[in-house]
Parts: sequence; C-alpha cells; structure tokens
Amino acid sequence: MAAPSVIVAGAGPVGVVTALALADAGFTVTLLEAAAEVDRNPRASTTHPSTLAMIERVGLIDRFIREGLVARYFQFWDRPEGRMVAEFDHQILENDTPFPFVVQTEQHKLARMGLDRLATLPNATARMNAPLAALEQDADGVTVTLANGETLRADWLVGADGGRSAVRKAMGIEFEGYTWPERFLVLTVSDDFEAMLGCCLRNYFADPNEWANLFKVAGDGNGPLWRAVFPAPQDESDEAVLSDEAAEMRLQGLRPKDGRYDLVHRNLYRVHQRVAAQFRRGRVFLAGDAGHVNNPIGGLGLNFGVHDAMDLADTLSAHVFGGADSALLDGYERRRRTLNIEFVQQQTVANKKRLEEKDPEKRRASLDQLAATAADPAKAREFLLRTSLIESTRRAAAMT
Ligand SMILES: Cc1cc2nc3c(=O)[nH]c(=O)nc-3n(C[C@H](O)[C@H](O)[C@H](O)COP(=O)(O)OP(=O)(O)OC[C@H]3O[C@@H](n4cnc5c(N)ncnc54)[C@H](O)[C@@H]3O)c2cc1C
Repeated sequence: MAAPSVIVAGAGPVGVVTALALADAGFTVTLLEAAAEVDRNPRASTTHPSTLAMIERVGLIDRFIREGLVARYFQFWDRPEGRMVAEFDHQILENDTPFPFVVQTEQHKLARMGLDRLATLPNATARMNAPLAALEQDADGVTVTLANGETLRADWLVGADGGRSAVRKAMGIEFEGYTWPERFLVLTVSDDFEAMLGCCLRNYFADPNEWANLFKVAGDGNGPLWRAVFPAPQDESDEAVLSDEAAEMRLQGLRPKDGRYDLVHRNLYRVHQRVAAQFRRGRVFLAGDAGHVNNPIGGLGLNFGVHDAMDLADTLSAHVFGGADSALLDGYERRRRTLNIEFVQQQTVANKKRLEEKDPEKRRASLDQLAATAADPAKAREFLLRTSLIESTRRAAAMT
C-alpha cells in the first residue's frame, strides 16, 4: 500500500521544515514553491533555544550553527541617552534547554539547508516554479491545481505559503487583525557596530522618536553584516525612505561616524498583527506566516512557524500512523492559534510599545523594570523562558 501523502505549499523556512518533519515521519511529501529560488531578502535571523531543539530534530543543527552566529546575550538600550539599560544572558536557561543561546542564522540559509536534506530523502520531492493556484478537497484527499494547469493529489495539504497564502485565501479563511501604519525599514551594512557602540550581537533601542533594532548576521561569505531596523512613518514615501540620503541619515543617527556607512542592502516591509480564523479545515492545514503574522521585534514569527511545523507533523502522524481519532487533529488549531495569540501577538505588540513609548514616566518605569528583571536571576529566567518560547512550548505540551 502506498504511504500516506502530503503536499506542502511554500518552500520558505516553515514549509521546508514541515516537509522534512513529515518525510521523517514516513509520509510521501511533495513540496511546491512558487519562485525559482529561495527568497534571500533579509528577514528572520534570530532563532531561539526552543526552536534550535526542533532544528536539531530535523537533522540540521550542526550546519545551522556553523552558518550562523551564536548569541548568548541580548541588550536593551536607551537610545537618546546612549546607555545600555539591561542585558540578558541565555546561559541562565542551562537547566531548561540544551541550547542556552540564540543563533543568528539568516532564514534563507535554513530553507536552503532544508532543501538540501530533502533532496537526499527518497520519499520527498521539492518542485520550484510550481505555484499552487487552486485546491479542492473531498472525504479522501485534496486536489491541487498549479498555475500551469497541472493537477496533483494527496491525502493532506499544508499551506506554508506565507502571509499572502493562496491556500488560506482559497479556503476563504479570514486573516483577522490589523496592519501598522508605519512600515519597517531594514538597512544592512558591513560596518561593525559592536566595535563602534560596544553593543552585543542582538540589541533593541528604545526611543520615543525613532526606536531601532540592531543585529549581527554571518552573511554569505563576504564577512559579517549588521542589520538595523527602523520605523518608517506613514507620511514618508517609499522612495524617500529608501533613498541613499535617508538611509545614511538614519544610520548616522544611530551611531555618528566619519565617512559614509557601507550600505549593502535596504528593504521596506509592511507589518501586520494577524491570525487566521482557522488553522485547519478538513484535510488542509495552515502553518507559519500563512496562519499568523506579527511585527518582528523580539524575533518570534518564524520561530513560532517552526513550532507549528513540528506540532503538525506529530499530530498528523499520531492520527495517520498511530491510529488516533481524527478529533485529535483539532488540537493543532487549538494549540497553535491560542498560543500565537497569547505569546507571539501579545509579546510583539508589547515589545513595540516598550521601544516606542513617548510618555516620559511610563518610559522610565518600563526601562527601570527591564533593568530590575535583568538584575534578578529568577526574574531574568522567567523573562527568558517567555521570550525564547520555551514557556509556550511547555504550554503546548500540556494542551490536547
Ligand atoms: C524585517 C523582518 C525581520 C524578521 N525577523 C525575524 C526573526 O528574527 N525571527 C523570527 O522568528 N521571525 C522574524 N521575522 C518573521 C519571518 O520572516 C517570517 O515569520 C517567516 O518568513 C515565515 O516563514 P514562512 O515559511 O511561513 O513564510 P515565507 O518565508 O513567506 O515563505 C513562504 C514561501 O511560500 C512561497 N509561496 C507563496 N505563494 C505560493 C503558492 N501559491 N504556491 C507555492 N509557494 C508559494 C513563497 O514564494 C515563499 O517561498 C522577520 C520578518 C521581517 C519582515
């Protein structure tokens, strides 16, 4: 008898990890990607301890760490005062996780290494240039139509096709939430902020006028890079925000230096807080950005998407191979949707508010509280369990 089959739409990092976890579990997997190549735009890099354990499970951890940067600390700064307010050390989680650190690995590398491993598996196929255009499901399976008219059939379908998910739209599932009026600007430079500022590899700057995030990544062979993220106000046109002069002004505002910054990339993102009304309908599931999107402050979106992937692979395996009743499949939506709202949506909105707070008293109180949390080992551990999604993983394990 043929092995149970799954089509995964989208070879972003979540689709690739989903495909690997399902193939490892024994499903025959077809991964469909609309684009010709993995998307290399600078998006996620921060990968938390809870997610590293999952990347280990799908056989990628050694390469993932090798191609990234291990970041044990992260810092909060008061930008107007040029002062570091709080530093958190993941080492405090040494009894909670085998990975008491974050790894900064660009998300396109995760997709690439996952595709490389998929290519070695006899029960997995990845097809680039293969956009899903339509789908239909019946009691026995799902039929997918590609943009070229070709049809494919499988027992199950996973939509891991990003925030504009064709799968979610085809199912008519509402994407509930809102879009922030400001966009987020990412400027990538080769200049070494650690040397210039004395910051660490992962930094958040609170500023009532213009907050910022600053991360170091390993880059693609031409030396390490730094990504600075800034808000771009609604009334500033895309063209103006992305101009050389505006980019230089923002970088000089973060850290004045002689001469110009070596700007290697610039990108502007529209940012949303949205959660799909359903994560599963019949034989079709949503995972990753197809099911939830959030602002990137705190680095949670992709991490939570990888957690979706593993939950889905375990849940579907328990039903298909373990003989568990199909009611078990409802647990996927119950856990992922609830925990996304309670952890990811809540934290990312609070993170943004903390960095942009304009009221001087509230701002002072919030930064003082961060400093006090970092200085108290029990509170720091509790804070890090939440920010690194270990707490949400424990909650998920306790939910049916
Ligand atoms: C500036 C920025 C920084 C971020 N930093 C972090 C971070 O540090 N940590 C973190 O956890 N998250 C971060 N995020 C969020 C993270 O980038 C996303 O959560 C992540 O990309 C989600 O992965 P995904 O695979 O679900 O979707 P995507 O990465 O969007 O991949 C979807 C894939 O599906 C393909 N596709 C689309 N339509 C179809 C179709 N019809 N058929 C087949 N394929 C299709 C697309 O081409 C794409 O390859 C950041 C986001 C931004 C914008």
